[in-house]
Amino acid sequence: MVASSKDSEKQDSMNHSTEVSYEGSCHCRPVGFSTRLPSPLPHLTVISCNCSYCHIADSLLAFVDDMEIHQGTESLKEYRFGSHTIQIFFCGICGANVYNKSVNPKFRFGQCAINMRLLHGIDLGTVEVSKGDGKNIHLPPLEEDPL
Ligand SMILES: [Zn+2]
Repeated sequence: MVASSKDSEKQDSMNHSTEVSYEGSCHCRPVGFSTRLPSPLPHLTVISCNCSYCHIADSLLAFVDDMEIHQGTESLKEYRFGSHTIQIFFCGICGANVYNKSVNPKFRFGQCAINMRLLHGIDLGTVEVSKGDGKNIHLPPLEEDPL
């Protein structure tokens, strides 16, 4: 006997804020991704970082638990600077900074920060932007360089 049920989404009653799925893409569109963010959006912490890269890219970053690149991974390029432990991914065609990911065990290891400017259908004027002090965060290099 098959216990069939309608597609039942498990709801996390412990979690007070709901999450909404958002789509994003780079400026020229080949790179597309989706992520889930707390709703309403003002509950989200959005960071304007002052590190030497963000100073130029002017990305507005939000740390996300998961994100999925569903198209255009072949267009993504990776850049690293400083301790080389933060991966910066940008579109190799239009140059848009799509997301960054830490590979440093001592700083948000494995976590991704997406560039909020690439999300579709959001009003960035409604989000509160916090200052991030990346300029003064000195990440230790990896003890064993995997390269
Ligand atoms: Zn692009």
